[in-house]
Amino acid sequence: MVKSVKEKLQILADAAKYDASCASSGTSKRNSLGGKGVGSSEGMGICHAYAPDGRCISLLKILLTNFCIFDCRYCVNRSSSNVERARFTVDEVVQLTLDFYKRNYIEGLFLSSGIIRSANYTMEQLVEVARKLREEHDFRGYIHLKTIPEADAGLIETAGRHADRLSVNIELPSETTLSQLAPEKSGTTIRKTMADVRYRIDDRKDAARSRLIRKAKPPKFAPAGQSTQMIVGADDTNDAAILSTSTTLYAGYQLKRVYYSAFSPIPDASRDLPLIRPPLIREHRLYQADWMLRFYGYSQDDITSSMEDGMLDLTVDPKLSWALKWRDNFPVDINRAPKETLLRVPGLGPKTVSRILSARRYTRLGLQDLQRLRVSLDKVRPFILTCDWSPGKLTDLHDLKSRFAPKAKQLDLFAA
Ligand code: SF4
Repeated sequence: MVKSVKEKLQILADAAKYDASCASSGTSKRNSLGGKGVGSSEGMGICHAYAPDGRCISLLKILLTNFCIFDCRYCVNRSSSNVERARFTVDEVVQLTLDFYKRNYIEGLFLSSGIIRSANYTMEQLVEVARKLREEHDFRGYIHLKTIPEADAGLIETAGRHADRLSVNIELPSETTLSQLAPEKSGTTIRKTMADVRYRIDDRKDAARSRLIRKAKPPKFAPAGQSTQMIVGADDTNDAAILSTSTTLYAGYQLKRVYYSAFSPIPDASRDLPLIRPPLIREHRLYQADWMLRFYGYSQDDITSSMEDGMLDLTVDPKLSWALKWRDNFPVDINRAPKETLLRVPGLGPKTVSRILSARRYTRLGLQDLQRLRVSLDKVRPFILTCDWSPGKLTDLHDLKSRFAPKAKQLDLFAA
């Protein structure tokens, strides 16, 4: 039976939800029901992501198709899965994007796809959507294209000319499990494609900087950079190894983001896969550790030094976990410590630290000043010195962690 565009949208927006590489963010629900206003933040396939300048934008997040010739065992769209299938034409995606954009539902498109016929054929289709939007319809919204690693370099070049961001999924943190669970994929090819994307981004930046060719502006290539997604909990790779892979990816390919996606058990799954999804808090802790690597100046060794058996503590955040483990670094004098040291104090983020640094040029700070900067005093007290506060023995208190960890709950015997 021929499916309507609406039916296809239902299937292909749902199939795209497993891709975390345009992270959703909390937003209030809005709509124009009742005749007031234009647009809606609700609807099939609409998700929210952060643009490079920090703006939260709504994206139409869909697959071109969920047919796939590959059989990655962790994927609901694998060839052996019996999910309902659908496929958009290029023109249908273009029209949907334009319609949603004109109605003010979205500010951009996130487009991925299962692999149909071949990597090149699929990539051609994805690129054609972006090309039509840009060249034929002068679409100026945000475009994020998923890149098929096995596709030709020429197609990736064209994709980067039209898309703001490209992403190549690393899929799993370990190459060994990748070859077991996704035998048609190659870790080497994935990394080679990431290297190629990085080279093209760097090349365009260098060209734009070069005085010689400043007059002839070089064509843009993925100005919002590249990102990737790693599935967590589909194999037994621990958090230390996951963060090690991320560190290598950030350093080697200048990724903007590594997205961590907790494995979701799928129907008729292979026996090699876990039956339950890992706790969502694990995904959250990995994001926190990732931020510590990127914005707080921690090294991978710093973070792993406070882990037990290579796993992040699920009860407290990794920055607090590090501070509790290495208490001889505390208390930190808020009025004298350098920026790098302040950033290691649990409860102080980069914004607060820069406010502290500017405020202390004029005055010596006390607890009330920190409170005015919206710092949680309960969290920072054991780790800081101010002009009116010293933690004394609090920093070394044997059960300090219990003050921060959530209280254990009695399980309900009759809970479902
Ligand atoms: S190639 Fe992508 S869509 Fe196809 S089975 Fe693998 S993960 Fe799923």
